[in-house]
Amino acid sequence: MRLILLGPPGAGKGTQAAGIVERYNIPHISTGDIFRKNIQEGTTLGKKAKEYMDQGLLVPDDVVVAIVEERLKEADCAKGFLLDGFPRTVKQAEALDEALAGMNASLDKAINVTVDKNVLIERAVGRRICKACGATYHIKFHPPSKDGICDKCGGSLYQRADDNEETVTKRIEVYLKETQPLIDYYKQRNILVTIDGEQDISKVFEDIVAALGA
Ligand SMILES: [Zn+2]
Repeated sequence: MRLILLGPPGAGKGTQAAGIVERYNIPHISTGDIFRKNIQEGTTLGKKAKEYMDQGLLVPDDVVVAIVEERLKEADCAKGFLLDGFPRTVKQAEALDEALAGMNASLDKAINVTVDKNVLIERAVGRRICKACGATYHIKFHPPSKDGICDKCGGSLYQRADDNEETVTKRIEVYLKETQPLIDYYKQRNILVTIDGEQDISKVFEDIVAALGA
């Protein structure tokens, strides 16, 4: 099962990714993680990526693709993988297809978890985090029993500075605009699966499993 997971920030991708990798016994490949690993281990590609990041520049596609491609060649990916955070552009998607073709493989599905923009904004703006233990709450959907206080440890809750409505709206709009061409690309390739991410977490997962047909 070779999968890609797409979805805006706040769509609950993390939870779904955890369920998918467990059920299908495939590795969860987050580009953020493999970047950090390459940089920590000082691989040639990691050094290259770091040069750009240190200058505050975007790592160019060829470096990103090379890092992902190396990861996909590792033994644990023989039965498949779940890619998260990559590809971000059609160019990267094409490069991924090429890399996989070189390994006599191809993507099975691109899972797109969709949530209405206003719902995403509400989810993000209401989020509160415990200063002490990092537990997360939501003032409407998952409130602590005592206002502003963590149920688990009694620590005080705060709102992340970038969870204000204006920043969140911008973050989501940028994501949706940048991702649309990618969604169109996978739709054209007939492997796009659209999942309603506004449902219950467990129903979202059920729909994903049903769509994967296994
Ligand atoms: Zn806490």
